[in-house]
Amino acid sequence: MARRQVDLVIVGASFAGLICARTAALRGLKTVVIEAKDEPGARIHTTGILVKEAADEVDTPPQFSRAIHGVRLYAPSLRHIDLSSRDYFFLTTDTAGLIRWFADQARLAGAEIICGRKFEQASRGEGGLDLPQFDLQTRYLVGADGARSTVAKLFGLGRNSRFLTGLEVEYHALPQADPDLLHCFLDTRLARGYLAWVAPAPGFFQVGLATNDSVKPDLRAFLSHTEHLFGFSSADVKERRSGLIPCGGPVDPFAAEKVLLIGDAAGHVSPLTGGGIRLAFRYGRRAGQLIADHLTRNGPPPELVLRRELPGFAKKLALRTVMDFGPPNWLYDLIIGTPPMRWFANTVYFHRRGEKPRDTPHAGAED
Ligand SMILES: Cc1cc2nc3c(=O)[nH]c(=O)nc-3n(C[C@H](O)[C@H](O)[C@H](O)COP(=O)(O)OP(=O)(O)OC[C@H]3O[C@@H](n4cnc5c(N)ncnc54)[C@H](O)[C@@H]3O)c2cc1C
Repeated sequence: MARRQVDLVIVGASFAGLICARTAALRGLKTVVIEAKDEPGARIHTTGILVKEAADEVDTPPQFSRAIHGVRLYAPSLRHIDLSSRDYFFLTTDTAGLIRWFADQARLAGAEIICGRKFEQASRGEGGLDLPQFDLQTRYLVGADGARSTVAKLFGLGRNSRFLTGLEVEYHALPQADPDLLHCFLDTRLARGYLAWVAPAPGFFQVGLATNDSVKPDLRAFLSHTEHLFGFSSADVKERRSGLIPCGGPVDPFAAEKVLLIGDAAGHVSPLTGGGIRLAFRYGRRAGQLIADHLTRNGPPPELVLRRELPGFAKKLALRTVMDFGPPNWLYDLIIGTPPMRWFANTVYFHRRGEKPRDTPHAGAED
C-alpha cells in the first residue's frame, strides 16, 4: 500500500521544530511534526529564559512570561553586585505553556502534530524519505530532536559531544527572594563551567545549576549553601528536572540530501552561556522558509544558505575552555565588586559597550 505523501516531516515539537513547522505550513508545505512525548510542553528540560533578542525574534503572548530587568551576581562568598539596564530585559517563562502555545500556532498554520510516538527509523526511497513507523513518505526531513538527535544518528550527521549538565527544581513560591532580579551565582566548586541561578518565573521560582562533565552537579549542596538567603527548606516543590546543554558549537555536517538539523540537534547553542532558544527561533524559522522555497520555488538547498548565515562561535568556544577550566573561587571573591568585573558582567548580561547582541543568557546573557 502506498505511504501517505507529505512535503516535510519534523522530528521534535519544541522551540526549533514548532517554529519551523509553523513557518513551513504557512508557506504551503504539507507538514507533519513527530513528538515522542504525550504532548508538546510535557516534561520540559529547560529554564526557558528568553533573552531580549529572542523576544524580539518571535512575538509571544504576555501571559507566558515575566520581564526581569536586573541581575544580582553573587561571588562564592555570597557577596554580590546588582546590575541592571533600562533598555534590556530577560523574559522568564511558563515554558510548558509557551510550547503548547507554539504547538497551537503550528496547528493553526496547518501543520499536523503526532504525539506520544518516538521516531526511530527512516530510509531513502524512490519518491523521498520513507518513515515506515508512521506510514509516511516525505520530500524533506528535519531533525529538531534535541541534544542527542536520532535523525543525526540515522543519517550519519554530526553529533554533539560536549555538554553541560543542568539540574533544576521549581518552587511554588520563595517569599525571601527578590522577585525582580535574576539571581546568578559564580562558584567553581558547585557549578564548574557554568553558574547556579534563582529565577523568578511567572507564578513560580526556578532554582538550578549546571556543571561541565568534570564534576557531578550537586543541587542539594547549592540549596544548603544559600538556604539562609532563600529559605528553600520551607518552600513547596512544584517540579524537578535535568537536561543536557550542548556546548561544543555547531555540529558538522548538519545536513545531507533533503535532511537538515536545527536547534540543539545542530549544536545551535551558545557555548559560553548555554542559551539555545534564540538560535532555535532564528534558525528554526529560517529553515522553514528555506525548505519551502527549495521545494516550491526551486530555491537553493537550505544548507547552502544556512551555512553562510550561521554564527561561527570561535570566541565563545575559546571562552568556554576558560570557563571549563574554572577560575578559582578566591579569585571570584576578590574581583566581584571591582570596576573590570562590573564591566565584564554588564557586557555579558546586557551586551553593553558596543558589543554585538548575542544569544541567550541563562543566568545571564547569551552568547
Ligand atoms: C537545564 C537547562 C536549562 C536551560 N535554560 C535555558 C535558558 O534559560 N535559555 C535558553 O535560551 N536556553 C536554555 N537551555 C537550552 C535550551 O533549552 C535548548 O537550547 C532548547 O530547548 C533547544 O530547543 P530544541 O527545539 O532544539 O530542542 P529541545 O527543546 O531539546 O526539544 C527536542 C524535542 O524533540 C523530542 N524528541 C527527541 N527525540 C525524539 C524522537 N526520537 N522522536 C520524537 N521526538 C523526539 C523531545 O521530546 C523534545 O520535545 C537550557 C537547557 C537546559 C538543559
